[in-house]
Amino acid sequence: MTIFTKDGRLMIPIRNRRRRTNVSEDGVRYVVNKAYCPKGCNVVDNDVEVNGLPGLRLAFQNTDGKGELVISAIEGDFDKVVLSGKLTKGQKNTVMCPHCHTPFKKLVNCNCNPNAEMVVLGLTPKLNFNNAITFCNITDCSNGSFIKSGEAILHVRLMA
Ligand SMILES: [Zn+2]
Ligand SMILES: [Zn+2]
Repeated sequence: MTIFTKDGRLMIPIRNRRRRTNVSEDGVRYVVNKAYCPKGCNVVDNDVEVNGLPGLRLAFQNTDGKGELVISAIEGDFDKVVLSGKLTKGQKNTVMCPHCHTPFKKLVNCNCNPNAEMVVLGLTPKLNFNNAITFCNITDCSNGSFIKSGEAILHVRLMA
């Protein structure tokens, strides 16, 4: 499948470069099939797959402007499709709902950078920090992605 962005650029789906992730292969990978913004919008994007599964669509804003990206729903998989805007390695992004533009809430600071924040994406329509995933808002920081927030707090404390 070929995907064109609104401005006509061609995106190469990641699954064409890599073997489709077999989720049941090791049986322990956590896959998100429901995720919500703080106001309860569903951010699962059935139109954009990342490694064979619907991705999670997020809006972002940084010093280069606004954009949208779709991140992988698979634990430990940091592949993403940038739909618009620009992401720069090491840059901080404000991460927002692509539908209502409500910023995602901060859980804790990430230890990769003094300004880095772990933002939280709820797995229930009403945000519950114990049923959520968290990831760092610095581009290319791999801390904390797709682990339950309770474990994230423990992880960050252990690292401190
Ligand atoms: Zn929303
Ligand atoms: Zn970080």
